[in-house]
Order: sequence, then C-alpha cells, then structure tokens
Amino acid sequence: MNDKVILVTGISGFIAKHCALELLKHGYAVRGTVRRMAKADETRATLSKHCDTSRLTFAEADLLDDKGWAAAMEGIGGVLHLASPFPAGEPKDPNELLRPAVDGTLRVLRAAVAASVSRVVQTSSMAAVLGGQREARTKPFTEDDWTNTDDPEVTTYYRSKTLAERAARDFVKSDGSKLHFSTINPGFVLGPVLDRDIGTSAEVIQMFLRGKYPGTPRIWFSVVDVRDVARMHRLALESDESSGGRYLAVSEATRFLDIARPIREKLGTVARKVPSRELPNFIVRMVALFDPTARTILPDLGFAFTVDNSRTRRSLKMDFIPVTESAPAMAASLVQLGLV
Ligand code: NDP
Repeated sequence: MNDKVILVTGISGFIAKHCALELLKHGYAVRGTVRRMAKADETRATLSKHCDTSRLTFAEADLLDDKGWAAAMEGIGGVLHLASPFPAGEPKDPNELLRPAVDGTLRVLRAAVAASVSRVVQTSSMAAVLGGQREARTKPFTEDDWTNTDDPEVTTYYRSKTLAERAARDFVKSDGSKLHFSTINPGFVLGPVLDRDIGTSAEVIQMFLRGKYPGTPRIWFSVVDVRDVARMHRLALESDESSGGRYLAVSEATRFLDIARPIREKLGTVARKVPSRELPNFIVRMVALFDPTARTILPDLGFAFTVDNSRTRRSLKMDFIPVTESAPAMAASLVQLGLV
C-alpha cells in the first residue's frame, strides 16, 4: 500500500487534514478532494507547516455531483472517505445532510470500484452507534451496536451517519465485493486544530473558552483525540484483518464537565471562562425553548453511558490519548491561533 497514492475526500476538513499529515509522514502520496480549488491552496499552506507536501495533489469533486470523481480515482490505491457535512444544529431540510452523506458515499464507492481501488476506509461516527437507545441501556456500547434511526428523537446528523454507513456496507456486500472496506467510528473529536478552519467540534471548545456557557449540560460524550483518529485511518488501510472492520475511535465516555475541567486545569487564566459546574436539567430545557441547537441535546440529558473499545484496541493495536490531554490540546491550539 505504501507505494500507492491515497485519496482523502474532503481534505480541507479538521480530521482529514490530520489524516493527510499522518499519511504523508508515513511515506504515502496523497490526493485530496476539495469542492473548490481555492481550498487546495489553504490546505497545502496548513500542511506544509508540519511536513513535506511535495507528494500532495488535489482534485475537485463534490459529493452531490458525479463530475470529477473518476478523475480523482485515477491511479489511486486506497481511499479515506471523510467528506460529509457536520453542522452544529438541525438543518431546515434533512436532505441537506442525507444526500451528501448517503448518496455521496455511494458515489465515492462506485467511483472507487470503477477505478479498481483496493481499499476504502469510511469515516463513520459514534453517531451511527449510540443513537436512540437510551431506554434501559446498562451495558457498554460496542462495535455491535447501531443507532436506531426509527427513534423520532435521533437527530438528522445521527441519521445521516447511520444511513451512510449502512448504505456503504450494503453496497460492499453486492457491487463492491472486491473492495477491502472498513469504517472508523469516532466519538466527539478533540485534539489540536491545524488552522483557522476549525470545524464543528472545535467550535464547542471555542465557546467554552469565550465564556458562552455558564455551565455544561449534564450529558455524556464519547471522545477521542484527532491524532488517534488519523492514526486509526492509516492502520485500517494497512490492516491485514478481513474486510468489514468497524473500529470505534473512542478513548473514553465522559461527562461534558470532564472535558471542560482539564482545560481549566492545564491552561490557567486563559481558560478562566471555561465552565466549572453543571447546569441543572430544567435550565437546559428552558434554554432549548429558544435555542434549536440546545434542543438537539435534550434527549441525551442525564444519559450516562460507557463504551467498550477493547476490540478496536486489540485489532489496530491502539492506545488512546486520554481526554485530560486531548481537550487541553484542542483549547491550546485555538488560543495559539488567536481564535479565543
Ligand atoms: P469538517 O466540517 O471539518 O469537514 C467536513 C469536510 O467535508 C470538509 O472538507 C467539507 O468541505 C467536506 N464536505 C462537506 N460537504 C461536502 C460536499 N457536498 N462535497 C464534498 N465535500 C463536502 O468536519 P470533521 O473533520 O469534523 O468531520 C470529518 C468527518 O468525520 C465527517 O464525515 C464527520 O461526520 C466525521 N466525524 C466527525 C466527528 C467530530 O467530532 N469532528 C465525530 C465523528 C465523525 P468544505 O471545506 O468545502 O466545506
């Protein structure tokens, strides 16, 4: 695989830039897809601060359009499919998320098969694992769990990631049977941002630092460091396990407050506005009356869960960076970039 070019879809994204870095640092050539070539220059400028980018090229392609994908796949050995919209709140029209996620994934897979690409790693999400299962849940979540998309409280983003992963796995069983396919399912991604195009997960930490939250809602997140997510993508490309792997990119499941706490502890005065207490549920419910983003977390209030990542740790020989490092690393990078 090392002598081949790897296609990274949505290379301008927060996680994809780290994946490209990981691949370039391990001797791969990388071709990244962008919706507009202007993003290519920005992405190269960012990555060239961290590694040699002479083996980095770009191709223009949009998940909503067939144009460009055949050319993007020419001479490609493996694909990391990361491109997918990740907004903070609910879209007006669910198709704004569902079409690029589901149709876009199938478009990428069809183009990969047509170009005889041997491996595809899809960036799915814990959103495809955890959703719609709060009732009587006591055992840890594992790779065997799937979001229940029939639950009316499951958000459109959760549905988009679940349906995209299911569609990909169904495609691979039929038309894509020659592909070696696997998914990485990250929790909430922390760790350093590389430039000012920070993505949705860092916006949450940015709001912590700016003092936008008087406290954290009583919710739990599965979390992971972006550097581990990038490493897992490379390891999945190189894995000699059989096709179909589903790898949970989760260091731990943690209370929201325990993401804030290490930021305060490690960053000192610059993090003085980061919340230090939990908001009572009734306050969050009141805020949600006016704030549609807050409304999306209501079903998760008080839902404490755990994740068993032991299968993934064994399969990919992963050790995970703990939240006590990944959360402050993200906050410190935002401070360094002057984004607070
Ligand atoms: P970003 O928003 O930073 O990146 C999303 C990328 O997708 C961007 O490059 C964006 O391009 C591209 N994209 C969006 N719509 C289209 C489209 N129609 N056609 C082509 N490209 C498109 O998000 P992240 O890096 O955080 O997320 C990357 C992947 O990881 C996504 O699949 C997301 O669902 C998944 N994920 C993220 C988690 C997180 O906490 N961050 C957790 C779990 C999974 P452009 O720059 O032009 O907008």
